[in-house]
Amino acid sequence: MSDCIFCKIIKGDIPSTKVFENDQVVAFLDISQVTKGHTLVIPKVHKENVFELTPEIAKEIFAVVPEISRAIKQEFNPIGLNLINNNGEAAGQSVFHYHMHIIPRYGEGDGFG
Ligand code: 5GP
Ligand code: ZN
Repeated sequence: MSDCIFCKIIKGDIPSTKVFENDQVVAFLDISQVTKGHTLVIPKVHKENVFELTPEIAKEIFAVVPEISRAIKQEFNPIGLNLINNNGEAAGQSVFHYHMHIIPRYGEGDGFG
């Protein structure tokens, strides 16, 4: 989709710090990190949110989340990690290209939750 920020990130038209990429999926650091290492995992195809996901795309996302989570653990040493996915404006979605938030947690006062 031409006016989608995340499609532009996939194409490289908007810069991002990519932490993972394969043929189906890209992961990059959130521009406004709620905690250190806050990462977004997105499909390369434009799907608005979970209501549009196919089983294949859902599989492709979840196939890489454990590996990316372990890489974040290695790099930032969090003591926990939230996987969060907002679907629809009423649920807090602000970018309408499906994304899974990986939010590393560092204990009380880490700024999230
Ligand atoms: P949502 O509120 O839709 O669940 O999450 C959207 C996320 O995208 C937010 O955490 C926001 O900081 C992030 N975001 C918005 N625009 C950009 C951008 O241009 N680059 C990056 N890396 N993240 C972005
Ligand atoms: Zn898009």
